[in-house]
Amino acid sequence: MYARRRIAAVVGGLAVVVLVVAGVVGLTSMLSRSDAAPADPVAALLGDATTGAPGASEIPVPAQTGVAAQQPVTDEAADEAGGGASDAANEPGAADPCADPVFQQALASGSDADAIAAAGGAESFRSAIAAGAAPCVDLHEAGRTWVVVNKLNALDPIDYWPEPQARAEGVERTSGGHMRADVAAALSQLVTAARGEGAGGIGVNSGFRSYDFQVSTHRSYVGQLGQANADLTSARPGHSEHQTGLAVDVVACSEGCGTIERFGGTVQSDWVAANAHRFGFIIRYGDGDTATTGYEYEPWHLRYIGTDLAALYAAGGYRTLEDFFGMPPAPDYAD
Ligand SMILES: [Zn+2]
Repeated sequence: MYARRRIAAVVGGLAVVVLVVAGVVGLTSMLSRSDAAPADPVAALLGDATTGAPGASEIPVPAQTGVAAQQPVTDEAADEAGGGASDAANEPGAADPCADPVFQQALASGSDADAIAAAGGAESFRSAIAAGAAPCVDLHEAGRTWVVVNKLNALDPIDYWPEPQARAEGVERTSGGHMRADVAAALSQLVTAARGEGAGGIGVNSGFRSYDFQVSTHRSYVGQLGQANADLTSARPGHSEHQTGLAVDVVACSEGCGTIERFGGTVQSDWVAANAHRFGFIIRYGDGDTATTGYEYEPWHLRYIGTDLAALYAAGGYRTLEDFFGMPPAPDYAD
């Protein structure tokens, strides 16, 4: 039901003078499409008054690297041709980047882009993690663009509060609207590009939500829907991507903005699905991926992972962050 990746490395090198290495990396994702029902929580009432975010003009513009530089990953039956090498343990580039002082230093500096570069690029970084060969990279660490927050992975720290925050410059919003400043800058670029490429207006419905806000939000959902149904649409406190400042719910805008539930099927939604990775975003909760993500399809919920990883994610046809990093599905809470 969820995506599977297959990577096969085919090494052919018997020439006397020249060493020929044919490496074929195949990433396939297979999936089934099934349920699709909207219902993101809330129209966030939040963060605004409490974040103390800097003005929009202070937003730093992130470097748009990686998109063009990424090696497209083919999606062929290289598996079979490869005669068997596959799966995480045999992924190429699975050497431990943590053994490299340059990587350690980049990681400690707090620059996610530098750390990925020091690991040898997005695919080396990803495959090392997926192979369990990067013990110094903590996917729970809340301040990282690669953090994986789901029903089995709480944020660390659980009451994490991202800073600095900002609103996306030049972007309409229906409520809330703060997010991590680097994410705000990237979203601003996305919205500008969508408009410029004829997809129309995109606005922000909800960005950052604090731990305390999620406490009251989730409690209210449980009261209305019961625990099981509430858990399908609203994260428990400490388990929400919105708490990282990396997630944003978007809406289509023309004469005014629509709701998140009406985003799917719009021109804007189609454009976002095809282009969000150019700006570092993925659609985190895909159609048919509930068994992995634990959430119903949310075409409006964008998650920032940075341009390097997003380019790889798109090129590889990945559908969930869990699969991307070789993590187990997280359909439900442990308790
Ligand atoms: Zn959302």
